[in-house]
Amino acid sequence: MPEPDDLRFEWIDVSTHGEDDQWIRGRCRHLTPIPVRAFPTDELVAHLCPDCDQQLLVD
Ligand SMILES: [Zn+2]
Repeated sequence: MPEPDDLRFEWIDVSTHGEDDQWIRGRCRHLTPIPVRAFPTDELVAHLCPDCDQQLLVD
């Protein structure tokens, strides 16, 4: 099996020698973060990654 083409995540090859390739999902790449804005200031306070539900802090 080739590396999965789901680019949202890193993929780790866990196959052992002599077996078909096996992949497990690694770290999320947070490709499509959703901005989280404060109300009513509209200040950007964080991003939320819908792929892993992780809140990403703004620098
Ligand atoms: Zn993520």
